[in-house]
Amino acid sequence: MAHEHAIAPQPRQTFTGNRALDIEEPLLFDIGRADTTGVDIDAPGDFAPRLGGLEQTRAPDLPGLSEPEAVRHYVRLSRMNYSIDAGLFPLGSCTMKHNPRLNEKMARLLGFADIHPLQPQSTVRGATALMAELAHWLMTLTNMSAVALSPKAGAHGELAGMMAIKAAIVARGEQATRNVVLVPDSAHGTNPATAALIGFRVRSVPAGEDGLVHPAAVREKLGPDVAAIMLTNPNTCGLFEREVVEIAAAVHEAGAYFYCDGANFNAIAGKVRPGDLGIDAMHINLHKTFSTPHGGGGPGAGPVVLSERLAPFAPVPFLRRDGEDFTLVEHATGSQAFGRVTAFHGQMGMYVRALAYMYSHGADGLKQAAEDAVLNANYVRACLSNIMSQPFGDRPCMHEVLFDETWLKNTGLTTLDFAKALIDEGYHPMTVYFPLVVKGAMLIEPTESESRASLDLFVMAMRDLALRALRGEKERFEHAPRFAPRARLDETRAARSPVLKWRKRAPVADAAE
Ligand SMILES: *Cc1c(COP(=O)(O)O)cnc(C)c1O
Repeated sequence: MAHEHAIAPQPRQTFTGNRALDIEEPLLFDIGRADTTGVDIDAPGDFAPRLGGLEQTRAPDLPGLSEPEAVRHYVRLSRMNYSIDAGLFPLGSCTMKHNPRLNEKMARLLGFADIHPLQPQSTVRGATALMAELAHWLMTLTNMSAVALSPKAGAHGELAGMMAIKAAIVARGEQATRNVVLVPDSAHGTNPATAALIGFRVRSVPAGEDGLVHPAAVREKLGPDVAAIMLTNPNTCGLFEREVVEIAAAVHEAGAYFYCDGANFNAIAGKVRPGDLGIDAMHINLHKTFSTPHGGGGPGAGPVVLSERLAPFAPVPFLRRDGEDFTLVEHATGSQAFGRVTAFHGQMGMYVRALAYMYSHGADGLKQAAEDAVLNANYVRACLSNIMSQPFGDRPCMHEVLFDETWLKNTGLTTLDFAKALIDEGYHPMTVYFPLVVKGAMLIEPTESESRASLDLFVMAMRDLALRALRGEKERFEHAPRFAPRARLDETRAARSPVLKWRKRAPVADAAE
């Protein structure tokens, strides 16, 4: 009972604890019985163990279930999972857009799905050709000289890009003196973490009153000790960094490199080429911009594109053209490649999905996707801006719109209360409390795949809730979510003292952590 306070008390409204077809599901260990089994196992015959007396003498404490019990358990759990296939998922900075089924079909083609990374390259020519084609379009869309496909997430791409920058600094013999990376204070947490992980010191650059990074602020922090800047564009406030070209020039003039966090490429793909903005390295989240189911733990793919100056330092494996074919170069010997960041070649299935997405959209379609993503975010902004407050004033945003909690000031309610109430309305909440530079941030990214009708319903639900908050209907928020399988967890406690181990006869409530 140690964690009984982790869950707010919920009135038991039904005998079973179920709510209509929303069925309460305990852990397998709590429902299984050691003496039951769904399979017939022969009793072991007479044999002499050869474990020198170390053999286990007690039966293993595994839950036994019949096949229908096991099936129901997992199906019920799967129905508790909210997903983009179930409804609008406005999680800012995550680009939760529809994943076309065509991509899935292509990724399951046996020639892609059933190959093994240790197969001789001569037997997987089609797969290498597909990787080369994807690489070509990523370089074309970004106007960059090289791409390392292998990183397996956005953060991993950041790491690969920053390692290429570090290798370039080492090649210049400046590793002892250039050991600082500039990171704006609005950056995604992965940026400073990446820089620190490979031994750089992080120097913060403040954003201006308008939520943008200005060249003067960057110049103030630049010096001969600076190796690179890591800037996100569009930034995490959903705004395009307008002075990015001037910032790039200042960074280059100081002998440093320009790393761009390209996780928000969905807003500009087909409209702006990062290479034209003076960027030296940028990761692209294939799972965001080019659609792959994500959010439940991957797989992700974060290819990193590199400028001409950084191209020689790209990690292995990289593709080399051999006449009509491509060969994957596996070893760094004889090149300036900094090494490798993954075993094998990266996420093949995601390469297929990303290329299928590009082919099915075409150049005009990719551009329109970016335009529609921006249009949809601005539609949401226009529909809500007369009720909810925006930290940098009411002006056009990119693919996501940022609100703060100033408008809740006299209600006694917080961003968290508002987000929890949204769950009762059947929506996954927006990103909350990020970016950190904005107090009580609510970051909404509807993406281009929502229809006008679905946006209208969402903004009506938001307006209804907002008006209730302003009218003082506190009870609606204080115990929200009222209709979810779990209400409010003590999140701090869950994070500080997570219960990661099942203990026998633990109360069912513990399972929620
Ligand atoms: C999503 C995201 C990342 C990290 O990408 P992962 O694939 O989750 O590692 C980095 N920066 C920004 C701005 C992002 O939105």
